[in-house]
Amino acid sequence: MRTLILSDIHANLNALEAVLQSAGEVDQVWFLGDVVGYGPDPNECIQLLRAQPNLQALMGNHDAALMDFISIDRFNYEAAEAIRVQAGMISQESQDFLELLRLKLEIDDLTLVHGSPRNPIWEYILGSTTARANFDDFSTQGCLIGHTHVPSIFILNEHGDVQTLLPENGDRWKPSGRFILNPGSVGQPRNFDPRAAFVIWDDEEGTFLFKRVVYDIESVAERILRSGIPKRQSTRLFIGT
Ligand code: ZN
Repeated sequence: MRTLILSDIHANLNALEAVLQSAGEVDQVWFLGDVVGYGPDPNECIQLLRAQPNLQALMGNHDAALMDFISIDRFNYEAAEAIRVQAGMISQESQDFLELLRLKLEIDDLTLVHGSPRNPIWEYILGSTTARANFDDFSTQGCLIGHTHVPSIFILNEHGDVQTLLPENGDRWKPSGRFILNPGSVGQPRNFDPRAAFVIWDDEEGTFLFKRVVYDIESVAERILRSGIPKRQSTRLFIGT
């Protein structure tokens, strides 16, 4: 079975379309949170995401803020502005979808969260120390996370230490022990590679394939500027920050 693992779409329709096209036919889609925030197309992205086969979807911090489940005060000015603009655009249908997003899921031997297992909405797992501290907070073999927008793998070795891998386009990885894995971001990649990121999990081979795909950034940037979302949310897309 082929599972498409996506995170942090951030209302970027061109990136989402490019990812779905590049991924090809899959049996199911797991989305790790933040379908809204930053970009110009929150409703279109929700509509396309919800149409995916056997979708399991999580709530991210931007989704929670747009729904008023958490305070916008914890966001920086430009991120908060994007959420305010999107609050004026978001349809009732989209709100109904956002409202039902889950904070944590366990499927097969995997735990799915947006931020981290001990703090699903807010914690960023960017390095081995934070990753190590989170291995006691889930009981499955692996944990899938988003939120940092950086494709990464944290592997717990037999000595109890954590090794960090930063996979690149085309890297295929097969776990043996426990791990935390981040597919990177569809709509706002941040590791100085502007290409949209995603992962395909093949449960028969037991492998995770990391992929990057180019998309039409110009078109998204134009719509960001027209929508009244701060300009930095468009310029950052070209450099991947
Ligand atoms: Zn995000």
